[in-house]
Amino acid sequence: MPMGNIHKQKFQTWLTTQLPQFPMPCVVCGKTNWDTGEVIDSSGLSGVIAPMVQLVCQNCGYILLFDAKKTGVV
Ligand SMILES: [Zn+2]
Repeated sequence: MPMGNIHKQKFQTWLTTQLPQFPMPCVVCGKTNWDTGEVIDSSGLSGVIAPMVQLVCQNCGYILLFDAKKTGVV
C-alpha cells in the first residue's frame, strides 16, 4: 500500500536518525537519490506476515527493504 505523508515523515525521520550514512550511495549505481516507496507485506515459509517498507533508488530503481515495525511506519 502507498505510504501516507505521516508515514513517509516517520520513515524519513527514522532514516536520518538511525542511519548515520544516509543518504548512502546506492550499491548498484552509486547515486544518493533515495525516495520512500510503499509498505509491502511478505509472508515467508513460516506464514508469518512481515510488513516491510521500501526505500527506492530514484536513479536505477534498486529497492532496499526495512522492517516496517522497526521503522515505526506500522
Ligand atoms: Zn541506484
